[in-house]
Amino acid sequence: MQIAVAGGKGGAGKTTVALGLVFSLPDVVLLDCDVDEPNCALFLDREPEPLTVVSKTIPRINADQCTLCGECVKLCQFNALLELPAKILVREEFCHSCGLCSRACPQEAIAEEKKRLGLVKSGRGEVEFYQGELTVGQARSSPVVKAVKEQVQAGAVNVIDAPPGCSCAVLTALTGADYCILVTNPTPFGLSDLEKFLDIVENLGIPYGVIINQSESEADARIEQFCTDRGVSVLAKIPYSEEIAQNYSRGVSIVEGQPEYRQQFRQIYSEIQTVTEGKK
Ligand code: SF4
Ligand code: SF4
Repeated sequence: MQIAVAGGKGGAGKTTVALGLVFSLPDVVLLDCDVDEPNCALFLDREPEPLTVVSKTIPRINADQCTLCGECVKLCQFNALLELPAKILVREEFCHSCGLCSRACPQEAIAEEKKRLGLVKSGRGEVEFYQGELTVGQARSSPVVKAVKEQVQAGAVNVIDAPPGCSCAVLTALTGADYCILVTNPTPFGLSDLEKFLDIVENLGIPYGVIINQSESEADARIEQFCTDRGVSVLAKIPYSEEIAQNYSRGVSIVEGQPEYRQQFRQIYSEIQTVTEGKK
């Protein structure tokens, strides 16, 4: 089973929830897909080691052979090639590595070279764990997220800590998920991001439920009303707590710091099982 833990904004509490599940259930694999800023490893007992390099192929134009015919620029569907007066400029960040330009060049002036996008690391301590790391300066995180998702283990509960936001990388992290936990905060920003995120999971056809993190009874009313109006299940509320925040800042997960939460996370998993088994 794949359970994605997602949310429209950073700092909502995705990692808190993902680690809560990981340290409450048996046979769990943790996949940290927040490749811009992976931080799950800070809570584990072992430093992850490099597993695979993620790279993409980009064109390299040999200026001595290029006649500036412009054919490759016309063919590129992603505007990754730009015709300048004296050369063809390759805009690597737009290139999708389709290889069309190099095959189409009548002068055979385009070679292909590998560009490193990131790294997948793994660790096997108390938890089997994979994490993606985007190379500094690279803009395309989806291929790195995809490489982390290739480590999903059949027969285990795979907990996916998704990147924040609603980008392509988030869609990649969610693809194939059996269930999505949406973590939100009881603030106007939290509600706005939750609204956007519901459209994504509904379009992907993934069953979902909401966890309200940093819950405060009066502030929760708008989110709860929204969930009632949209027929969304609120799986749990995690109260605003200095103790949870202090433990988090020391690399202690919610259930290690306050073991009474273990039962709550097991209950959440049990609800998810009921939903996903009913869908089969
Ligand atoms: S198709 Fe080949 S020859 Fe023509 S502009 Fe592109 S690189 Fe140069
Ligand atoms: S490999 Fe494809 S996407 Fe990249 S520059 Fe060539 S045609 Fe464009």
